[in-house]
Amino acid sequence: MNLEYVLRDCPVCGRSNRDPFFCETVTPFIEGKQVPVSVSVTVCDDCGLVYNDRAPSAASLKHVYRFLFRTPVGRSERHKKKNRSQIGFLAPHLAASGALALDVGSALDPFAAQLREMGHEAYELEPSKELVEKCAQGDPRVINAAIEDFDSPLRFDLIALREVFEHLSDPLAALDVVSRHLAPRGLAYIDVPDLARAHPCGAESYFNFLHLWHFTETSLANLVAKAGFAVVARRTDPVYESIRLLLQKDPGAARACFTPDGRARELIADYFALESRELALARGQLTELLSRGGKLVLWGAGFRTEALLRRCIPDLAGRVDCLIDSDRAKQGTDFCGKRIQPPAYCLTTDSPVVISSSPSSEEAIEKAMLDMGVAPGRIVKMFEHRVRRIA
Ligand SMILES: [Zn+2]
Repeated sequence: MNLEYVLRDCPVCGRSNRDPFFCETVTPFIEGKQVPVSVSVTVCDDCGLVYNDRAPSAASLKHVYRFLFRTPVGRSERHKKKNRSQIGFLAPHLAASGALALDVGSALDPFAAQLREMGHEAYELEPSKELVEKCAQGDPRVINAAIEDFDSPLRFDLIALREVFEHLSDPLAALDVVSRHLAPRGLAYIDVPDLARAHPCGAESYFNFLHLWHFTETSLANLVAKAGFAVVARRTDPVYESIRLLLQKDPGAARACFTPDGRARELIADYFALESRELALARGQLTELLSRGGKLVLWGAGFRTEALLRRCIPDLAGRVDCLIDSDRAKQGTDFCGKRIQPPAYCLTTDSPVVISSSPSSEEAIEKAMLDMGVAPGRIVKMFEHRVRRIA
């Protein structure tokens, strides 16, 4: 497929900055093929918002999402805990029961079900047609649409955009749709990764072609104010590295709130320093494993494995036997010069299996291996004990 690119300006103040601090090409699997995608991230000189100034167009991204996310997310215990932590933040602001909620870009995560258990009514909005058709089992409460295209007579007491807002091509247009679908005194809830708390997977995972906006609490507050929302409650969550804002419509918000974010460049410098330390730690861990002889198997054929092979152990790549991925579309193809094998491959070798996928899927992959009968001593986790916080 050919991706179409667009140039973006700062949505808060309209300024353009074509002087990116991060330019990379990544090669995700899209429709079973590795597609080169360029990533270009810049900082607005006026307001400090960090964003991808050149990125795939909205139409291209829509196409990509159809293929990237085909299975429900959030089945791990860590993810459910994260949901409970979010619900704990929201609960004091909701009625005790009977609130009408919408979970935007749900990926069929258990959040809606968790709200229903508390006596609320919850709908889900999921843009992937494949995912809804395959996994929603005709549940009328799961609506197949992107937030930008959503149009319903329903008016919600809560509209949640959890780990969604940073992916939207036009966040102001999305907030306009949210605004039209809120009941009087209804609340919008945004949860995004916090630029001030470096992502544990490193810059190449955080600054990627799907994360279009990289918010601090200040830059997010500036953007939502522009869309006519005032912040009712806020929390930065050190455990989940996220910013949580609870918002209410307020026509005066745009005039009342604008604070240039002067910390952006300093945070980015911290981020890359942290990443160097992380890569050194990962390199130490893998070198130690290889000092015992033999080869390694890496589980995960995505951004993180690519960064690991290219930037962390390029000289040791010959000691990586192959990659494992549960995505059938990837199996049998090559990624970064390595053959991708199905999970059962783990049983045909004695090599340690390093989970090089995301921290959020570490637990689920470990469980899958233990269920298959892989000895616990062969399973290597990369993220479990890392110190993540920089701010
Ligand atoms: Zn700006």
